[in-house]
Amino acid sequence: MSYSYAAAARARAVVRPKVEGKQLADGVWLAIPDPTDATYTMIVEQANGIVIVEAGFDDLKGEAIIDWIAAKFPGKPITHAIMSHNHADHAVGVRPYAAAGATVVAHEAAVGFYEALINRPASKILLDALDRNPVTAKVQGVPADAPFRIEDEDHPVVVYPVYNRHTSDMVIADVEKDGILYLGDLYIGALARMLKRGERRSPSGEPVFSAVELDAAMQLYGIDATLLVGSHDADPVSLADFNYYLGKSE
Ligand SMILES: [Zn+2]
Ligand SMILES: [Zn+2]
Repeated sequence: MSYSYAAAARARAVVRPKVEGKQLADGVWLAIPDPTDATYTMIVEQANGIVIVEAGFDDLKGEAIIDWIAAKFPGKPITHAIMSHNHADHAVGVRPYAAAGATVVAHEAAVGFYEALINRPASKILLDALDRNPVTAKVQGVPADAPFRIEDEDHPVVVYPVYNRHTSDMVIADVEKDGILYLGDLYIGALARMLKRGERRSPSGEPVFSAVELDAAMQLYGIDATLLVGSHDADPVSLADFNYYLGKSE
């Protein structure tokens, strides 16, 4: 299914979604909401807490994911919420994670955006998790020229800034030792859907610019992930399929 605001709005208007965890590796999960807002949150278990990647659109989904985390990892706090970029379908659902005490991690160019979103005046119509539990949330900026590391012995997460033409505040999250890379709107979700249709390259044979920009970032930083998770599809793409799409392999 492709992303649509209509689907997201429908999901938001109807009910609090149910959430199931899809395990990607030891300690790494993807939250599958039903109904879906078409953005999938990744969950990484570290020794001292939980790191999530990408809130998505729907803050009620966020509340359901926070409940799933509390049941799955009793007593572990959510320490960080990494946000790939500030487009609404990725970012506006960040508030329940702030209410839960997570530090929001985003590109330094978007720090002001997240501070404003988190500290907006409380709603007088419909109170959300942060209105009910006002906290002073920290927003950690990722420098435009250096990665930000969330250290852990088994599952360190490294957040890299990525130059691209989709947005000026893009970061990607590498679960380094597990070889899993999470990306928002850098073509991997679209490639996942292409693969499900049985297509491995675009008809022209030319990769789209955002896939080329992702590949450039992976080369620049020496990221050797083997599984690529795009925020708008629940099925990851293998590095082999990505390299074939780029025309790097036959
Ligand atoms: Zn976007
Ligand atoms: Zn998007």
